[in-house]
Amino acid sequence: MLEDLKKRVYEANMLLPKYQLVTFTWGNVSEIDPETKLFAIKPSGVEYEKLTPDDMVIMDLNGNKVEGKYNPSSDTATHLELYKAFPDIKGVVHTHSSYATSWAQAGRSIPCYGTTHADYIYGEVPCVRCLTKEEIEEAYEQNTGILIVNEFKRLEKDPVAVPGVLCKNHGVFTWGKDAHDAVHNAVVVEEVAKMAFRTELINPQVQPAPQELQDKHYYRKHGKNAYYGQGN
Ligand code: 13P
Repeated sequence: MLEDLKKRVYEANMLLPKYQLVTFTWGNVSEIDPETKLFAIKPSGVEYEKLTPDDMVIMDLNGNKVEGKYNPSSDTATHLELYKAFPDIKGVVHTHSSYATSWAQAGRSIPCYGTTHADYIYGEVPCVRCLTKEEIEEAYEQNTGILIVNEFKRLEKDPVAVPGVLCKNHGVFTWGKDAHDAVHNAVVVEEVAKMAFRTELINPQVQPAPQELQDKHYYRKHGKNAYYGQGN
């Protein structure tokens, strides 16, 4: 079932090693089918070289496996919470990409220091707190998703304008309009994390880019007055 979806999700997963966002099996990609509300996700712990489209696991939004010979990704419950809360997103990625995860381990949001960042992400990439002992023991992956969703609500962040988050002491989640778009955003977050790290090394007193410059770059690519590219 959902053969096209499984193929797309397989291909998106294979982009993670291609873009050097994962080591070994440290990452996963999913995409949801808006009609059936089923999503395809990478199986847990299977080496990327051995994956095939048929190995993708089909899940429903109640966390039931609908099809697949493998166990789904260990992070499935996080993907599920994001799909339930953010109806505009159709693809989710998790990685431990090196620079972004370094910011996550340090417990720091990534400030917007320049237009590379502002072209894709409106404002900082937030870093959410580490889960409590109770949250970890009760339902670690589900509570990770719930925490991300609650923090986006509290910070009044639009998940379309801020397509990613850092989880303290853990790693990175990004999302997008499909699985490939979510991978694209994972590449962007890693790249801006690397640049921000070097920016602070070169100038420890650096300040975020002026808000008007951030606005200019974000809104020339996004929203109803966008004029970047060939769309108009
Ligand atoms: P899975 O292989 O279960 O998707 O785990 C990857 C990972 O990065 C765990 O955080």
